[in-house]
Amino acid sequence: MSNSFVHRRIAIFGSTGSIGTQALEVIAANPDKFSVEILTAQSNDELLVKQALKFQPNIVVIGDDRKYEAVKQALSHTHIKVFAGAKSLEEVASMDCYDMMLAAIVGFAGLRPVLCALDIGKPIALANKETLVVAGDIVMKKAVEKRVPIIPVDSEHSAIFQCLVGETRNKIEKVILTASGGPFLGRKPNYLVNVKRDHALQHPNWQMGAKITVDSATLMNKGLEMIEARWLFDLGPEQVQVIIHPQSIIHSMVQFDDGSIKAQLGLPDMKLPIQYALAFPQRIPNDFPRFNFKNPCQLTFEDPDTKTFRNLVLATEALYKGGNQPCVLNAANEIAVYAFLRNRIGFLDMTDLIERTLEHVPMIESPTLEEYFESDGEARNFAASLIKL
Ligand code: NAD
Ligand code: MG
Repeated sequence: MSNSFVHRRIAIFGSTGSIGTQALEVIAANPDKFSVEILTAQSNDELLVKQALKFQPNIVVIGDDRKYEAVKQALSHTHIKVFAGAKSLEEVASMDCYDMMLAAIVGFAGLRPVLCALDIGKPIALANKETLVVAGDIVMKKAVEKRVPIIPVDSEHSAIFQCLVGETRNKIEKVILTASGGPFLGRKPNYLVNVKRDHALQHPNWQMGAKITVDSATLMNKGLEMIEARWLFDLGPEQVQVIIHPQSIIHSMVQFDDGSIKAQLGLPDMKLPIQYALAFPQRIPNDFPRFNFKNPCQLTFEDPDTKTFRNLVLATEALYKGGNQPCVLNAANEIAVYAFLRNRIGFLDMTDLIERTLEHVPMIESPTLEEYFESDGEARNFAASLIKL
């Protein structure tokens, strides 16, 4: 087999975030394999400019148009084109100047650029799980139609994807998503009622953006990942299981219909699934720290405490109901996390807010893309009205 690697021009949507910055580390370590074509950020203009000067993309987009002048000015002596605003994200995603998009924007805002990239047949390395939670049916249908691969970056889904290499003809009985349990593993509601932002932001195993870190603490992240897995691997809701594995060494597993289980292991480091997705189907050697079986380390497993972490129940219900329910769940959750991060509501209030929003927004069985956008807007408005945001 030939080892030649065709150079890839990467478009990083969300380059200033946790995934975006780690992706740039991977790219910096492999300049022969990757270059940067597009960088985008919402508001961190200083970091965006720094990244642009170092990686010399052809295009940058700053989401917040009030920062446009500052970015333009800072890059005026370069060839780099500067765009601003949410619409520009779509325009730039639709340009035929890159080979692969790394979708690393957080939340619903990541959906439209992904759809634009799929429309012009660009492979996606997908970190932005909300894209599939909101409109997984439409996104996957488009990917199949356009014959575009979507390679997961989320560590659990990367693990499942890796376990499935070479197994296309074989039937999956179920996938087993592992969850660290987050910083409040073992805690009960009487403790969680007083939990504040800073405490929730301290994840034991992973350094991530604020939203996903809170989602990990509430277990909503695992709920979103169940929905993400359902779409990525074309599974029924009953084929997706969650198990708590506090050490985050086994990143997830697949059980085939002969009962055999395959797992993917490694130290918790997002650079590995990022690199795997960017280079797929090749693996690139690296010097990341290795898991050492000689170090005393027990791998343990337990069921999630769904009585305490009710977000996982709400997400599972949305997964089973389908239609616009995961979209509503996601929108309400984004508002809830936003409010919690600003100390406007408590930790347990987030679940109540999501539950009430799910009760309020009418079910749509098979939404169109427009209906997904409408459900998202309706859910956001309702959730925000409950806390007077
Ligand atoms: P982050 O908050 O650190 O970064 C988000 C990026 O998106 C930033 O570059 C920001 O400028 C940009 N952004 C934010 N809001 C935007 C908007 N409205 N429009 C355009 N751009 C916007 O987030 P992160 O932790 O890097 O996560 C990114 C995505 O990857 C999320 O969907 C998350 O669930 C997923 N993910 C992250 C990790 C991780 O380790 N961080 C692991 C698995 C999956
Ligand atoms: Mg994950």
